[in-house]
Amino acid sequence: MNERLEELIDLSTRLGDPAHDYVILGEGNTSALNPDGTFWVKASGYQLPTIGSTGFVRVSLERALAILKDEELSDSEIKARLLDVRVDPDTGRWPAPNSETRPSTETVFHALCLSLDDVNFVGHTHPASVNALACSELFEEAFSGRLFPDEIVVCGPAPVLVPYIDPGIPLAREIRRRINAYIETYAERPRVILMQNHGLVALGRTFEQVENITAMMVKTSRVLLGAYAAGGPRFLSSTNVDRIHTRPDEAYRRNLLGE
Ligand SMILES: [Zn+2]
Repeated sequence: MNERLEELIDLSTRLGDPAHDYVILGEGNTSALNPDGTFWVKASGYQLPTIGSTGFVRVSLERALAILKDEELSDSEIKARLLDVRVDPDTGRWPAPNSETRPSTETVFHALCLSLDDVNFVGHTHPASVNALACSELFEEAFSGRLFPDEIVVCGPAPVLVPYIDPGIPLAREIRRRINAYIETYAERPRVILMQNHGLVALGRTFEQVENITAMMVKTSRVLLGAYAAGGPRFLSSTNVDRIHTRPDEAYRRNLLGE
């Protein structure tokens, strides 16, 4: 089996482990980039905890990104376009052999994330503690600052925050706008995207990074919920955040975490 796909199956079953409470039922999806410009993405209707190789579709990155260029696509046109981005799972060439397996409706935002520098794996989940905040009045405020050094080491200086938008192409376009604004501000790509009333996206060079980021954002959310119960969060200053983010010993710790 394709090595990337094996790693992706591992990542998916671990993110889907019920003990974590990151997803239930068919929630969440994952993807992994191949060196040939194709990527694996979860197929619609599969569940992360039990997923195997048949639960993933191989698609063309270029063709998936091209869907974003078309201004007005109806739901049925998008469905057809998503079938048309599939490639042969063995050769990576377009077109795909006839099959009913369709890539996740969130394939386009996976394509966007995988097109960023140094991103090979993406994990999208709906953890209850993250969504407790992402579904609250405090969403923007709660994630406007950083709370502790390990959060910065693993998740970077800030998350990308995305307001609630109809899932699919409009959401993918807004994510693209917000990622570009983030890169302009921080001069690096994001590691975390938080979608209001929806969930978390972790972007990693390795699958370990995606797992680490997901676990750390869940911890951050729990700390935030506790901090609000104890009078409100006390965020680190931007000078402190910068300092942690650029310290050589923190870079060393990142290396040890598989970065
Ligand atoms: Zn989702």
